Amino acid sequence: MTKIAFIGLGNMGLPMAANLVRAGHDVSGFDFSAAALQRAWEAGIAGAESGASAAKGAEVVLTMLPMGKHLIEAYTGDNGLLAAANPKTLFIDCSTVDIESAHVAHEAAAKAGMLSVDAPVSGGVGGATAGTLTFMVGALDDAFNAAKPVLAAMGKKIVHCGDAGAGQAAKICNNMILGVSMIAVSEAFVLGEKLGLSHRALFDVASNSSGQCWSLTSYCPVPGPVATSPANNSFKPGFAAALMLKDLKLSQAAAENAGATTALGLHATRIFDAFVAAGGADKDFSGVIEFLRAAHGGSRP
Ligand code: NAD
Repeated sequence: MTKIAFIGLGNMGLPMAANLVRAGHDVSGFDFSAAALQRAWEAGIAGAESGASAAKGAEVVLTMLPMGKHLIEAYTGDNGLLAAANPKTLFIDCSTVDIESAHVAHEAAAKAGMLSVDAPVSGGVGGATAGTLTFMVGALDDAFNAAKPVLAAMGKKIVHCGDAGAGQAAKICNNMILGVSMIAVSEAFVLGEKLGLSHRALFDVASNSSGQCWSLTSYCPVPGPVATSPANNSFKPGFAAALMLKDLKLSQAAAENAGATTALGLHATRIFDAFVAAGGADKDFSGVIEFLRAAHGGSRP
């Protein structure tokens, strides 16, 4: 049994913390939101008064926060986690943040004498609930080895991507593929509709042909072919378009810093930006198909 402080009990953090409790760990959770703390309490997670009080005496401090600025503030702000924890505590950040913030967090942790890991996830709320997340880890070997058993209680696949920040790099690249491929699949269905193809016919062909990809076969943007996809549920997230836009913007910032050409990534960012501005922020990102369908005949994105 490991004593774990879990900071950020939102859509992802709550089910992840619940899986740590189920695995027999001693979890103390904190979130700014009283509603999130209440849900955590109902799920059997002990609530702490602050992040710092959860971190005091913990062997592992795990964060699942919205963005880089929240991570840096939680680590180093007033009553911060790094100052509260004992030296040599393992800090695991599972949030998706920009690579620069990940480096700043690692450096602050090292300065405070901690082990640290960036370990963003893929698999969404469904994967967090089922304990089947994929973790992409950036860390030195000793921190990675220490984090592995904790991550194993929340996921099924743990990939050591490299040193500090490498997990965030992998996450950003993966989600750029996802954003681009969801638009490609959506465009194909919209074109198929215009050409008189049924959704079923296009799905049956493409899912058995070279157009096959996760956006088609696991998360199909039209209702019917994949029973669990948000298209069957009025595009309730799932993975909100606002978060996809955030990840695409992170990919473009990283591409600019690194001098990489990501023309489709840039175009996908613009399309999701327009979808979000048109009211799609809280819809599942596969709802971009409705935006593309509506754009036909009007101004093309
Ligand atoms: P969320 O907004 O539901 O939860 C974040 C929580 O963090 C909120 O409850 C907020 O109150 C809390 N918080 C912020 N700062 C805090 C602080 N200093 N101390 C304590 N609590 C604090 O977001 P989410 O959907 O759970 O996503 C969390 C992270 O996981 C994001 O970085 C997101 O990009 C990533 N992610 C999300 C999904 C998904 O499908 N939702 C999938 C993969 C990765």
